Amino acid sequence: MSFTLSDLSPANQAFLARRAQGQGLLIAGDWREAEGARSFATLDPATGLETGRIAQASAADVDQAVAAAAAALPGWRATVPVQRAQILWKIAELIEANIDDLAQLETLDQGKPLFVGRWAEIPGAANQFRFFAGQAMNIEGNTLESSINYQPAGKQMRTWTVREAVGVVAAIVPWNSPLVLTAMKLAPALAAGCTLVLKPAEDTSLTALRLAEIMAEAGLPAGVLNVVTGFGAETGATLAAHPQVDKIAFTGSTATGRAVLDAAKTNFKRVTLELGGKSPSIVMPDADLDLAIPGVANAIFFNAGQVCIAGSRLYVHRSIHDQVVEGVAAYAKSLKLGHGLLPDTQMGPVVSLRHAERVEGFVTRARNEGATILTGGQRTGEAGTFITPTVLTDVRADMEVVREEVFGPVLVAQPFDEVEEVIAAANDSPFGLASSIWTESLSNAHRMAADIRAGTVWINCHAMYDASLPIGGVKASGWGRDSGKQAMDNYLEWKTVCAVV
Ligand code: NAD
Repeated sequence: MSFTLSDLSPANQAFLARRAQGQGLLIAGDWREAEGARSFATLDPATGLETGRIAQASAADVDQAVAAAAAALPGWRATVPVQRAQILWKIAELIEANIDDLAQLETLDQGKPLFVGRWAEIPGAANQFRFFAGQAMNIEGNTLESSINYQPAGKQMRTWTVREAVGVVAAIVPWNSPLVLTAMKLAPALAAGCTLVLKPAEDTSLTALRLAEIMAEAGLPAGVLNVVTGFGAETGATLAAHPQVDKIAFTGSTATGRAVLDAAKTNFKRVTLELGGKSPSIVMPDADLDLAIPGVANAIFFNAGQVCIAGSRLYVHRSIHDQVVEGVAAYAKSLKLGHGLLPDTQMGPVVSLRHAERVEGFVTRARNEGATILTGGQRTGEAGTFITPTVLTDVRADMEVVREEVFGPVLVAQPFDEVEEVIAAANDSPFGLASSIWTESLSNAHRMAADIRAGTVWINCHAMYDASLPIGGVKASGWGRDSGKQAMDNYLEWKTVCAVV
């Protein structure tokens, strides 16, 4: 397909002219260039063409953004909950009013098929703001009956707790589902009364910049949200280490999560980490295969496998192994790859050339270690970074491709015989983000849901999420939960008050 920027909606063309010319740092309510007017190109991964230039924030820019968030904190923290709720609700409404443009922008930047943004991720982002509008008005402490035996004559001891905003939050997000993952950080932080500096991923900054415009239009005061674009090693690392940042809300790879943890040590920042995964899909012999085969295929090929909760390890009972794996391979072959803005595209490119080469490397090494490529495993297309949906068999539990997160459209399939065996295999991973079990047996479903070590277990479905549901993982998949009312805890401290009155 030939696609040019003039095919974009007029609103998106105007946005690119306004923000993607290297003037996209938002600091204290002002849009500005980075120090020294530094910027870098952002590309359409489906064509390789430059779509705009993104400001490259320096340490001094980050410093100003953090100072702006710190200056805005007392005012925002002092707003009454309903004021914050009204603004969050308005942001949701404006996201919905701009949904077609936002979906188009996300596809242009990230590569995903338009329908993914239009019908799943952008509505999901709006729902985060709606859900946390409610949570802003539901912050509560406790009154406590203590046993402190200190009562001066005529006085009484009273004790209670209150919840207070953590302070200045650094929100650092990845490129795979940029807008909805950003919303998962911003909405609860703002509901709690925190101010923020947002650092989008270098490959996908566009919808974050558009969202920041929308949030200002919704009435968010200047300085409450600041945006610094740039590369992880400079902009991200400076932000993570900044002494005036009180909390880091990070989503990204496990390796970067470790670096963020190190940076947080300096002033004991609060940290939540939503990291990588290698999630198992388990097909039991009694599964409904009409549901399971497309279900496990979608679990890995949705968004070209660039999903933290992707079902990238498939375990199928030996009695139905070949039928299921061949069915998944046929599904993979049937997927139409193309530019995400074409209406019949079912799978887009991976986000960048660097990432395509990384994914290819995993497949090559797996083949060299003895894996069979049942289907896929290649770069395709005259332009862009397309990888054919891939199914690997004859893999062993100790292979790199079974243990490491590929973050691409690559599925490894293995047979099993016994329930205990597959539970042990599913849990034999450094990660523990998600899992799905495909079975018609109630007892299998309950038992396995209890025994699998993962933040989420889906039964006869995969990757279902909602603003009301906490998302996050155990082991190397991270600390804490985004989304759901539990996310409020990430942005609130407890204060204890003891009073003699
Ligand atoms: P990444 O770790 O490379 O980058 C994530 C963000 O961190 C980017 O904004 C990047 O610029 C920034 N960054 C990089 N180095 C940094 C540093 N030293 N200090 C501070 N910030 C730094 O991850 P990615 O490749 O953008 O995203 C893919 C990863 O994200 C996958 O591992 C995926 O599983 C994970 N992810 C997890 C969840 C979840 O909810 N658990 C959701 C989506 C993605």
